[in-house]
Amino acid sequence: MRVHESIYVDGGWVDADAGERIEVLNPATERVVASVPAAGPADVDAAVESAQNAADEWAATPPEKRAEHLAALRDALAARRDEAVDTVVRELGAPVTLAERVHVGLPLSVLDSYVKLLAEYEFEERVGNSRVFAEPVGVVGAITPWNYPLHQAVAKVAAALAAGCPVVLKPAEDTPLIAYVLADAAHAAGLPPGVFNLVPGTGPVAGEALVRHPGVSMVSFTGSTAIGERVGELCAGQIKRVALELGGKSANVILPGTDLGGPVAKGVANAFLNSGQTCSAWTRMLVPADRYTEAVELAAAAAAKYTCGDPRDAKTRLGPLVNAKQRERVRGYIQTGVREGATVVAGGTDAPREEGFYVQATVLADVRPDATVAQEEIFGPVLVVLPYGDVDEAVEIANGTPYGLAGGVFGPDEETAVAFARRMKAGQIDINGGRFNPLAPFGGFKRSGIGREFGAHGLGEFLEYKSLQL
Ligand code: ADP
Repeated sequence: MRVHESIYVDGGWVDADAGERIEVLNPATERVVASVPAAGPADVDAAVESAQNAADEWAATPPEKRAEHLAALRDALAARRDEAVDTVVRELGAPVTLAERVHVGLPLSVLDSYVKLLAEYEFEERVGNSRVFAEPVGVVGAITPWNYPLHQAVAKVAAALAAGCPVVLKPAEDTPLIAYVLADAAHAAGLPPGVFNLVPGTGPVAGEALVRHPGVSMVSFTGSTAIGERVGELCAGQIKRVALELGGKSANVILPGTDLGGPVAKGVANAFLNSGQTCSAWTRMLVPADRYTEAVELAAAAAAKYTCGDPRDAKTRLGPLVNAKQRERVRGYIQTGVREGATVVAGGTDAPREEGFYVQATVLADVRPDATVAQEEIFGPVLVVLPYGDVDEAVEIANGTPYGLAGGVFGPDEETAVAFARRMKAGQIDINGGRFNPLAPFGGFKRSGIGREFGAHGLGEFLEYKSLQL
């Protein structure tokens, strides 16, 4: 049991003002493994004040010097790789191989990408008779969810620091421990005091205090669409910049004339990655109606290989969900699906293990595009397979949810798949299994959010433009 007494403010570990605490469970064992302070408004005030005090100097620090700081942060985090992997396995229940490759590996690449980007990014340009300067927006409040707890934090922290903005990070209640590893790395890297601050706490208290704080110039939020709406409203009231990365119900479209085997297997893997707790997961598989039976059989067979197991076992592909509430929610969706006519062809609601918040890898067939399970974000290992008649209908179904975050298109050739993807209303679409690119903008159309993360577009979110006419 690890007891964290402090929060990280102004370059040091300090006692939290609020006496409340948050207990952290291991979702694979359902046991409490740690606790952290639940910061209160006074803690948020202290963190924001330290960030404000650091803002001018950090903004004036030349980009190449900021790159050196980010490189030091990357190296300090890399030096804590094993601890970081262990922490994500413990507090999220992520399978250890996924934790190594994605949960910890990806943030290291993202930090590295910003080190490199700073070497070439133009913070000044000439437009006619104007000199246009890109200047940091100011103190950033970063609020992150539990599903990729280090990755989501680094996506915000690296971009904001690169842009010249100090950050106050409020991690999710379920997974605050990895943020302590990040703060420890920031401290070891020698970031100037106040440039990075950590205030763990609950959403309604610490999160909302951060969003409301007049000293915070921009809020970068990743989480559910419901809370994103609330955060957006609060920011609108203060004309405060806000970036929202929210939910999704992404479509994986397998076009006519495409071999089913590879695309179905890749689609299933994508849907069940991180136990389906991925905002960009392809949770709807769209297949030509005349090949529906074959596709459903292939998807069910692929899903059967995703057995639930101990996250510490390198062979485990499916870990638990993050908490009991999520497990019940996901089971409830499976029941709703069945009530509305779906057939369970793999998985189901039975508990696969005696302990842990596990849900089996589940595939639902005979689902209508307007069914609840085909419209709402489930955030668990549940894939629906939908038939379409022609390509126009596939476009209609793919775009027929309130979301527009991501997607996949598999076609007989790249050109056909790209032409289809251009008709989709979504921010990130992988063509024939194209791999994740940490420099490409990531974010949503429609109710999936506002703004983009990663690469130059992600950096741009944290900049204000100033034109000087000569
Ligand atoms: P998820 O279910 O994916 O964690 P949430 O939207 O519930 O998504 O939470 C995402 C983040 O938003 C968490 O850090 C949470 O503490 C925070 N949060 C929740 N409610 C609020 C709120 N009212 N104001 C600010 N942040 C909040």
